[in-house]
Amino acid sequence: MRIRRDLERMVDEQIRARNVRDERVLQAMLRVPRHRFVGDAMRHRAYDDCPLPIGDGQTISQPYIVARMLELLALRGDETVLEIGAGSGYQTALLALLAKRVVAIERIGSLALIARRRLETLEIPNAVVICADGSMGWSQEAPYRGILVAAAAPDVPSMLMEQLTDDGRLVVPVGGRETQDLMVYSRRGDGFEETNDGGCRFVPLIGRHGWEDSR
Ligand code: SAH
Repeated sequence: MRIRRDLERMVDEQIRARNVRDERVLQAMLRVPRHRFVGDAMRHRAYDDCPLPIGDGQTISQPYIVARMLELLALRGDETVLEIGAGSGYQTALLALLAKRVVAIERIGSLALIARRRLETLEIPNAVVICADGSMGWSQEAPYRGILVAAAAPDVPSMLMEQLTDDGRLVVPVGGRETQDLMVYSRRGDGFEETNDGGCRFVPLIGRHGWEDSR
């Protein structure tokens, strides 16, 4: 009961109140229990208005930014989507409700394993979590109508843009290691329309087309 109330409050006060209007996104947020995507020690904070540690120096993103990125992708439900930086698997689960198939890439093996198990436990059949460097995308199943990157890229990720369908959209934080702008690249045939949704903070995208691992 308490969890239901916390979840509804999260959606109303953190997401609806900040102008996320896409009903499909709001309904999906109400269906995925965020507390199932954090460790026991963080469970009591699962519905707080902030990112939370998930181990290995990584975080589950703040609920609002997750919702905003999903809204920016503007999914219809019939598409294959690529997610880079699956982390806890929370956003993967939401994408699975909003699209037909989700290919999620996570570079840290232990996180990929846990995310995969959680999706299985919640009986989400249409998402796979692959352990790999996703900074070059995942050409095996390209093109995608949506690509969502949950880690900060240092440059405009042209390799990812090439993996979009003709009407595809890429949502990605681009900028420095500490702060970035949330960018949307929409494919229009041969060209791209670019919009900046504002400042954000993500952990770095580490890999061949990302940052060097400094740990
Ligand atoms: N949406 C996720 C966010 C996780 S944080 C959630 O809410 O849980 C971002 C994740 O990106 C981290 O788990 C990190 O390990 C992963 N990551 C960083 N660089 C990556 C890369 N090149 N390929 C795949 N995953 C990467």
